[in-house]
Amino acid sequence: MASYRNMTAQQLSEELNCVKQEYEQLKAQNLELNMARGKPAPEQLDLSMEMLSDISSLSGVKSEDGFDCRNYGLLDGVPEAKRLFANIFGVDESMIIVGGNSSLNMMFDVISQAMTTGLGGEPWAYNKNRKFLCPCPGYDRHFAITEHFGFELIPIAILDDGPDMDEVERLVKNPDVKGMWCVPKYSNPTGITYSDEVVKRIAALKPAAKDFKVMWDNAYAIHDLYDTPDSLANIFEYCEQFGTSDMVIEFGSTSKVTFAGSGISALAGSENNLKLIQGRMTIQTISADKINQLRHSKMFPDVKSLNEHMKKHAEILRPKFELVNSMLEEELGDLEILSWINPNGGYFISVNTLPGCAKKVVELCKEAGVVLTGAGASFPYGNDPLDSNIRLAPSFPSLDELKKATELFCVCVKYAALQTLLA
Ligand code: PMP
Repeated sequence: MASYRNMTAQQLSEELNCVKQEYEQLKAQNLELNMARGKPAPEQLDLSMEMLSDISSLSGVKSEDGFDCRNYGLLDGVPEAKRLFANIFGVDESMIIVGGNSSLNMMFDVISQAMTTGLGGEPWAYNKNRKFLCPCPGYDRHFAITEHFGFELIPIAILDDGPDMDEVERLVKNPDVKGMWCVPKYSNPTGITYSDEVVKRIAALKPAAKDFKVMWDNAYAIHDLYDTPDSLANIFEYCEQFGTSDMVIEFGSTSKVTFAGSGISALAGSENNLKLIQGRMTIQTISADKINQLRHSKMFPDVKSLNEHMKKHAEILRPKFELVNSMLEEELGDLEILSWINPNGGYFISVNTLPGCAKKVVELCKEAGVVLTGAGASFPYGNDPLDSNIRLAPSFPSLDELKKATELFCVCVKYAALQTLLA
């Protein structure tokens, strides 16, 4: 079909009548589907079931250096779990702290610490004008943390190769700007990976705030869909070059490797940062769940086992991403009413409707039984100035469900676009 943009008003209104009929037919199916959050599908969770049966002997609960993990101790994690994350992040084991079940929790704690006691500077809470840079579309829960702690959230455009660094370099000259969120690989939701040049420019930042922190959330470090994955430069290598190692803290977890919410998390940082963070953790807890750390380390004793496991995830996820991509291409490819990025990994397909249509599309889908992430959720304060971005999360539904949901989605995109064009 020809582009909607070349149609006369008469043609558009005829098309609208057809699309309305299609929509009503789909609505009559009483669908109950959800493409809202990036949850692993049950078959993906099944891949890690062996982890639960591996730890019932006494030797099974001892770490490789003989520590009895049933007891208190090892605040910063068991050695083999540190090694696991050192491999994922490409850093030395001495830079790692292994935490509990959630990397988001570790991020919250780091921001909370910087607010209350400081992380290399005076407590951020003292600064009433504190601001945080939020590349967007981005991860809503990141923005929620800094909103919770009273930061002004400053949107930064995400370009094809990462955040708009000209803008970032300009803004960090303001000492009230205390940090920046980053999802550098298969970014949530755009799926893009920061280029070497962008990683280098981030590491080379010279912020006016001496305690500026880059929250480097490498949540999708190993979540490739193909054998030719995106590659992400190692930010700490650049930081060493520029003397900025205290500026970056990296985070990650196995939430989308083993069990979402019952995996293990970790952070990586400089010696100075680890000292401060461990100092706070000493007050906060006696130690994390080391039994779970052991389970994970036994399941992934080396890089090969981890890679093989992630390939199995990719085999389940790839057909889902490809289905959505090919349906969008087929249904909407020529109409010039939707653009999207087909990522090489991660958990999302980020789409842009015509300006002013995203909320309407999400609403139409909801009315017909398909729940999507709320329009605007990927922007600070939930405010997408163009009302255009929608995050699709294809991982959880079955292929059959995904097909139905995407079919409806395409009809809703047409419906909203036609109404807008006719108006
Ligand atoms: N960071 C990003 C970018 C995510 O997309 C998610 C989960 N959707 C998380 C963190 C949450 O990680 P965790 O389960 O380790 O708290």
